[in-house]
Amino acid sequence: MALPLRGSPARWARVWRSRLAGARGLAAASYQYDLLVLGGGSGGLACAKEAAKFGKKVAVLDYVDPSPKGTKWGLGGTCVNVGCIPKKLMHQAALFGGAIKDARHYGWNIPQPVHHDWSKMAQAVQNYVKSLNWGHRLQLHDKKVKYFNLKGSFVDGHTVRGLTKSGKESKITAANILLATGGRPQYPENVPGAVEYGITSDDVFWLKEPPGKTLVVGASYVSLECAGFLTGLGIDATAMVRSIPLRGFDQQMATLVTDYMKSHGTRFLWKCTPTKVEKVEKGRLRVTWKNLESGKKEDGTFDTVMWAVGRAPETTSLNLEKVGVKLNTQSGKIIVDSLEATSVPHIYAVGDITEGRPELTPTAIAAGKLLAQRLFNKSTEKMEYDNVATTVFTPLEYSCVGLSEEEALEKYGKDHIEVYHAYYKPLEFTVTDRDASQCYIKMVCLRAGEQPILGLHFIGPNAGEVIQGFTLGIKCGATYSQLLKTVGIHPTTAEEVIKLHITKRSGLDATVTGC
Ligand code: FAD
Ligand code: NAP
Repeated sequence: MALPLRGSPARWARVWRSRLAGARGLAAASYQYDLLVLGGGSGGLACAKEAAKFGKKVAVLDYVDPSPKGTKWGLGGTCVNVGCIPKKLMHQAALFGGAIKDARHYGWNIPQPVHHDWSKMAQAVQNYVKSLNWGHRLQLHDKKVKYFNLKGSFVDGHTVRGLTKSGKESKITAANILLATGGRPQYPENVPGAVEYGITSDDVFWLKEPPGKTLVVGASYVSLECAGFLTGLGIDATAMVRSIPLRGFDQQMATLVTDYMKSHGTRFLWKCTPTKVEKVEKGRLRVTWKNLESGKKEDGTFDTVMWAVGRAPETTSLNLEKVGVKLNTQSGKIIVDSLEATSVPHIYAVGDITEGRPELTPTAIAAGKLLAQRLFNKSTEKMEYDNVATTVFTPLEYSCVGLSEEEALEKYGKDHIEVYHAYYKPLEFTVTDRDASQCYIKMVCLRAGEQPILGLHFIGPNAGEVIQGFTLGIKCGATYSQLLKTVGIHPTTAEEVIKLHITKRSGLDATVTGC
């Protein structure tokens, strides 16, 4: 209701300032917390800790429903427990297998045969993950963020019901609520035996014994990374690809990634999709699949079947309908704007549950932190989701930032882009005579003028470490001309980026020769 203005504007400004302050005081006083975070993973913890820095009263609810196989874990979310961390450590364990073989060429006498002990590796990885769970609890405690091991769902816009494992209920109120409940692996629909006999990435890192001959179904990050490290650990692993590998990535690079995996022992079933899993003799699993090219039914026997067929956002148990938070009905993800705001004022969302965002830990963390700064520290800075670098930790790593060649072609047209590329041999591959056919770099630039860099793609050892630094340049608008002025660090694989000079258009051999 508009009030008639009497008195000077300055007096009214004072009155309104005091009314607003009163309203804010009332709001803060009438809720238990300034910020309540649902989900103690990458995004939720980052936001909670940042908000606490500004002296706000913050609480985090985190609850893990065990996987259908009964695997459960502690505070920290997907990345810490069943994602990035155990995955990278097992990838590292697999790389050591290759390093042992290489070491012989450098004079190390290593008795044969070398045997990998899965149980020992798993125990070490799991102990480290548990130490991170504990570390997260300590950090929350130190920052005075209240942690509840409760499963949250909405009662009303400012009230959340928390349930303990035993079903005990409590209610918590807050002025602002952040949804950061992440996602969980999906099981395929209409595949009898899928849930009963299969595992997912929620289980593989917590297996106490080696999985034996394994079929990994899917062809994206999770599938290829897991099939890759299993192969590297000496396990017979097969990846089942329904259509293309690494959908959304530059397809030339994706093919090189799978070519390398093949040459290093991972088996591939191309253009196949599973139809049935059954238990046969000695606890083994017979998987039946359809070959989409021949239309024929085929089968094979495995010890373990791992589904890596995508992830579903954890939005169904939150009672979002009650408060009117809008979802994309197809993906089940929460619709947010550039401020991470949902359709309901004072309810926000970050990370894997949000529509159209990359499903990556650093983006969830950055979005969470920036949100806290906007809410409680008068910041106006938004999360920038363009030029986010990522790495696929396959046996030969693939890292990239910016546009794929296909995306650049579609956006700018063939005549307006220039692609520089090189096949290179990492120095460490030379003495061991390792095949470097898939060590490849591609830089996609605009063709005109200084040639701004649109995308950079790198396949080779430590790809993530190489791309991280270049990301800064690309974020700052680096051009190919500027790159040419950079002096390389010799001898490294990253210097091969600096040396790129052959264009795809020229048709010249892109193999690097000499130093
Ligand atoms: P999460 O980290 O998933 O946290 C959500 C938390 O909320 C969980 O603890 C969940 O149990 C809890 N929760 C759910 N519902 C409720 C509820 N109702 N009440 C209370 N708590 C609830 N990203 C990378 O950047 N690099 C990598 O190398 C990488 N590797 C990956 C490997 C695998 C196998 C997988 C599966 C993912 C990987 N990711 C990687 C992706 C990364 O893990 C996620 O993008 C990131 O963890 C998302 O963070 P988040 O905060 O959205 O959710
Ligand atoms: P995803 O990217 O959604 O890929 C799902 C894969 O499963 C696709 O290859 C898909 O094939 C296949 N698939 C689906 N149904 C199938 C079926 N019935 N039969 C055979 N194949 C089937 O899922 P994801 O690999 O689980 O990864 C989820 C997200 O986690 C990623 O987007 C990524 O952001 C994040 N992540 C990041 C990292 C990292 O940073 N290194 C690592 C792992 C995960 P089609 O292409 O034919 O649909």
